[in-house]
Amino acid sequence: MATAYIWPTNTLQPPKSFEETIIKNVSIVDVKTGKIAKHQFVLIEHSRITKIDSTNIIVSDDALIIDGTDKFLIPGLWDMHTHSDQHSEWLHHPLYIANGITGVRDMSGQLNEKDSYWVGSKERLQWNKDLELNTRVTPRYVLQSSYQMDGVKAIPEDAPDFFKLQNPSQVDSLLQFYKNEKVDFIKVYQQLPKDTYKTLALKAPEYGLHLAGHKPMFLSLEDAVNLGQRSFEHGRIFMYECFPETDSLKHSTNWKAYFSKSKAKIVHQFDSVQAKALMRLMQQKKAYWTPTLQTLKFEANAHKNEFTNNENLKYVTNIRKRLWWKYDTDHNKEKNLERKGENVSEQFFEASKNQLSMAHRMGVPIMAGTDVMDSYVFAGFSLHDELYELTSAGLTNLEALQSATMVPATYSNAIEDYGTIEIGKKADLVLLDKNPLQDINNTKSINGVLLNGVYYDEEKLRELKAFTETAAGSFHMNVKTFVSLLNSPLIRVQFAD
Ligand SMILES: [Zn+2]
Repeated sequence: MATAYIWPTNTLQPPKSFEETIIKNVSIVDVKTGKIAKHQFVLIEHSRITKIDSTNIIVSDDALIIDGTDKFLIPGLWDMHTHSDQHSEWLHHPLYIANGITGVRDMSGQLNEKDSYWVGSKERLQWNKDLELNTRVTPRYVLQSSYQMDGVKAIPEDAPDFFKLQNPSQVDSLLQFYKNEKVDFIKVYQQLPKDTYKTLALKAPEYGLHLAGHKPMFLSLEDAVNLGQRSFEHGRIFMYECFPETDSLKHSTNWKAYFSKSKAKIVHQFDSVQAKALMRLMQQKKAYWTPTLQTLKFEANAHKNEFTNNENLKYVTNIRKRLWWKYDTDHNKEKNLERKGENVSEQFFEASKNQLSMAHRMGVPIMAGTDVMDSYVFAGFSLHDELYELTSAGLTNLEALQSATMVPATYSNAIEDYGTIEIGKKADLVLLDKNPLQDINNTKSINGVLLNGVYYDEEKLRELKAFTETAAGSFHMNVKTFVSLLNSPLIRVQFAD
């Protein structure tokens, strides 16, 4: 076992970079308007698009030429809710790129010490640098997150006190710490005390930071939006708010139990008038919603073999499948089968899609995100399923594409460089065999991916998938994962909660 742990792990090499790359005769999908410009020539110099023309562009003899005939070019897709760990290089990054995911917003982080399992802004910023130098196969990590701030819970006892956020006086130290770590936002979580949250929200902008994550249970969504939280995660945000007994959730010392026993009531007594008022407020305050429908979809379908027999399981380590996903799956399966004729999780999933449709019509900006690493969420693959689910909730194919391109780039203050195909922008692009505006599932017909101007062709994309499949199945990666979990103080407190 010790040998397996220290055994050096193979690494992937990125493809060669070219000074000039040209994509010839391609159909460019304008994700702003939904128009398609046919027979275009796109010139990329180093990592940026420098020319787009309807006639051929002369390039040097050393240029890389990509034939775009009968193909569709879209901006690289972003997954706005992921979690990476110390083994993402082997287990997640290749799958993101193979699936056309060129950017991710990672929603976890570290405290003051390097964790054996989780990664933080230091690692991710290094990966971004390596991407610029073309020395590493990695998606772009677009915004840096703090560790999940949940009050005293989920913080190891010996960590500096300010991480525990027991009272507002600790807020400045926390914000200063994460500012020094070059973090962009504080990930807020369910059990953060109300007073501390308020102070955090008011002071974060002074440090150039914003708040994103869950809505803490002990204050209202209205308050959180008014205090400036910029993004809200997961499909339940309106469920917690818009039912007659919502106040009990905000005071109950045992809100978790209260929530789970009230689930059926929450769905049946949902107050859509109140929901619409909150959605209007979110639209006015530019608060974004990342519904991560994948997680509710899993809960709704955990008892179905056709759902759990997923062909992508080969990309997941046995450790994760056995220690983590199996427990979660069995638990949800039992709950779903328990109530004859009424599957509350299924109703939750459907209700969240209805709310998504309402919110979208009310103008709440929607971002595609998956919650990678959660049960039955697969790096890269699941984003395509999320896009599909967004359309099944009523977004058009174009709007679904926007939720993974323009909208997140705007959210991240990075629309100058990403999110659409325009001269001057970074060449993070996906070449598709079929038109995604006709059928959203066509985002899966990936022929090639350009990441920071470097071209991953079909053969390279196959290599990436095979690499992760081999890594996930290897004894040595499973031992590595297991040992890193055992040694992580953060994992220990998270599981204790
Ligand atoms: Zn998450």
